[in-house]
Amino acid sequence: MDARQERKHREMESLFGADFLPLSKTTPEGPSPMEKLRGEVAACRKCADLCDRRTQTVFGVGSLRTPLMFVGEAPGGDEDLQGEPFVGRAGKLLTRTLEKIGIAREQVYIANILKCRPPGNRNPAAEEMANCTPWLLRQIGLLRPKAICCMGNIATRSLLKTQTGITRLRGRYQEVDGIRFFPTFHPAYILRNMSNLKTFEADLEKVCRDVGLLS
Ligand code: URA
Repeated sequence: MDARQERKHREMESLFGADFLPLSKTTPEGPSPMEKLRGEVAACRKCADLCDRRTQTVFGVGSLRTPLMFVGEAPGGDEDLQGEPFVGRAGKLLTRTLEKIGIAREQVYIANILKCRPPGNRNPAAEEMANCTPWLLRQIGLLRPKAICCMGNIATRSLLKTQTGITRLRGRYQEVDGIRFFPTFHPAYILRNMSNLKTFEADLEKVCRDVGLLS
């Protein structure tokens, strides 16, 4: 990280709370619980097919004091290279849509069901999701957000333990195991179906308002 990036990072930390990215990795007592978890994930080798080909694991990013978490499917090529979720085309759409409604990406926390990129961006296998979901549940346990916005069919079906599709589920809260989920479209789907952009934007605005990020 160069000096300019570090300065910007410090500004963001003072705005949104410490520890939203790797600079404030440690507390006086040592690495924070989230950083310890990041380390465990980086060492994970449960899915041979994925971890043999990954550049790195893609853990999660954002404010640790946020009331809102976003969960997508799995890292793509850009995410695998940069080690951060939602930084490719779909991620830029998510970031832009948040900005349009007045929310900076750093105000929320963003993660995926899978921490490793599936080869060729294929859909995650059931076994891979079963192996990886416990990491996400531990992230959720540390963050304890007021709501989790699950984006797209894969994340929604897996977290809500349902076979119902996103078109029927989106825009309404569902509680599972004491966690409040708010399903919406995946931004990659919006890139292919721009007529749904307004609905996606309205969903994001609703969930941000409901958790208190917008007044
Ligand atoms: N799609 C996802 O589901 N997650 C990412 O991080 C990027 C694209």
